[in-house]
Amino acid sequence: MAIDLFFSTFSHHIPQFRGMNVPAYNYSVLERFMRYVRIDTQSDPNSPTCPSTEKQKNLGRLLVQELKDLGIGDAEMDEWGYIYATLPSNSTREVPVICLCSHMDTSPETSGKDVRPEIKRNYQGGDIPLGTSGISILEGEHPELRHCLGHDIICTDGTTLLGADDKAGLAEIMDAIAFFQANPHIPHGSVRILFTPDEEIGRGANKVNLSKLGAKYGYTVDGESRGSIEDETFSADMAKIRFFGTNVHPGYAKGRLVNALKVAGTFIDSLPKQEWSPETTSGRQGFVHPYDMQGGVETATITLILRSFDDKDLAEYAHRLRALAQAAVQAYPGARFVIELTEQYRNMKNVLKDCPEVVEFAVEAISRAGMKPDLGSIRGGTDGSRLSFMGLPCPNLFAGGHSFHSKTEWISVQDMQAAVDMLVELVKIWDEKAQQEVA
Ligand SMILES: [Zn+2]
Repeated sequence: MAIDLFFSTFSHHIPQFRGMNVPAYNYSVLERFMRYVRIDTQSDPNSPTCPSTEKQKNLGRLLVQELKDLGIGDAEMDEWGYIYATLPSNSTREVPVICLCSHMDTSPETSGKDVRPEIKRNYQGGDIPLGTSGISILEGEHPELRHCLGHDIICTDGTTLLGADDKAGLAEIMDAIAFFQANPHIPHGSVRILFTPDEEIGRGANKVNLSKLGAKYGYTVDGESRGSIEDETFSADMAKIRFFGTNVHPGYAKGRLVNALKVAGTFIDSLPKQEWSPETTSGRQGFVHPYDMQGGVETATITLILRSFDDKDLAEYAHRLRALAQAAVQAYPGARFVIELTEQYRNMKNVLKDCPEVVEFAVEAISRAGMKPDLGSIRGGTDGSRLSFMGLPCPNLFAGGHSFHSKTEWISVQDMQAAVDMLVELVKIWDEKAQQEVA
C-alpha cells in the first residue's frame, strides 16, 4: 500500500474535532480497542461452521451490549455471528442509508490468544522492543513509524498478533456512533452497522443479508495507513491445468510411457521468469501464479491464480496459459491437457465507477478530518469487492493498523482518532449532500 510522505504528523495530539462546532470530544476508541483485542477471535479455515470459531461470538456479544449501552436498541447478532445495528436518521432530508462495516475475526496465521497490548506513549523514534520476547518493531522496516513521532503506539508483547486488523475498524465505528449519540444536534441519515466474522478466511461476505441490511452504499473500515482509501481491487480467476500421460510398467515402457509429471514440469519451466509473476510485478501490473502442483505419471494438475486490475487481461492470460500448455504437450507425443477456469472475484471499480460520489465523499471526509487523501488500489481482494458485486458498492477506508497478521502488528492511537474523525465527517457529508427534504 502506498505510503504518503507528505501528510502532517503533528496535527493530532489534541483530542478535538477540527471543522466541527463541537469544542472537544472525549474519544472512546482507545478504551474500546483495548477491550476488543483481549478477546480471542481467531478464525479457522479448516472449520466448516459459520462462524468458523464459536469464540468470535464472545466479542460479538460484547459489541451488541456496547451498542445497546449507546442507545442503539436494535443491535443484534444473528445465528451466523453477524451483527446488525442502526443509528437512526435524525435528519430532515432523504439521506441514502450507508453501511459501515468491519470484521471481528483475526488471522489464522498468528495466535490471537491472550493478547497483551502495550501502549508506548509519546513515541520519539527508534526501534520498539516487544515485551521480553526479544522481538522489536524495527524503525528501518516500518517507514510509517516516521509519521508517528509524538504519537502513542499500541503494540504487542511479541507473543501474539495485535488484532488491529480489524478491531481498530470496530472501535472506530463504535466511537463514531458514540459521537453522534453524544451530539444529537448534528444531522445525519440512517447508518447501518455491520460487523462480520471470518473475513480473514475469505468468508466474511458469505452470510451477509443485504435485504435485511437495507443499505444503499457501504464502506469497509479495514485499510492500513492514515488517509488511505481504496476503490480498486484485482480481478481474479483461478486456472486448473490437468496434464494426462500414459502409465506403463517402467520395465516395459519403451515407446509407450508418457510421464505427466514431465509435461507439467516443462509447462512450469516455460512460464516467463522475469515478468508476469508476483515476484516480478508491482503497482498496476498483473500476473499469473502457480501455487499448487499434484500428481503422478498418469495425471498432474497445476493450480494457478490469474490477477489483473483489468478484466480483459484475464482472458488474455488464460489464452497465453493455454498456448504454453499446448506447447508442453506437443513436446511429449501422446500427452494431452485440459484447462478449467473459475471466476473468483472482480475489481470493485467496475461497480464504484457508476456511483462516484461514494468515493468522492470519503475523499472529502479524509480532507475535512485534516489528512491528505491517498486513493489507491489493493493488489488483492476484500470483502468489499464481493459486497460491491452483491449490490452494496463498498470501497475500503483506512483503519490505521500496520504489519497485519504478525507479532509486530502496531497502530497509533492518534491515527485511530483520525479514523473516527473521518467516519464522523463522512456521515455528515452524506446528509449535507442530500437535497430532498423528507416529505
Ligand atoms: Zn482486515
